[in-house]
Amino acid sequence: MTTLRITIDPVACDAYGYCAELLPEAIVLDEWGYPMVDGRPLPPELVTQAKRAVRDCPRRREKKAGS
Ligand code: SF4
Repeated sequence: MTTLRITIDPVACDAYGYCAELLPEAIVLDEWGYPMVDGRPLPPELVTQAKRAVRDCPRRREKKAGS
């Protein structure tokens, strides 16, 4: 079984905040609107939502990585 995590490229991110709207269980916004993730593996029930958040990122800089 593959473990998935969300990571953010803080240089590329433009703080649109869509990812936090689509995946609030794993992504929160800081006071400037930039996303923060805790780096924990995603539970299986959030994988579909996470893939959508990655796909819909305007900057397409969110990445999911196996570990
Ligand atoms: S959707 Fe993409 S550009 Fe928008 S806050 Fe998330 S990582 Fe940044």
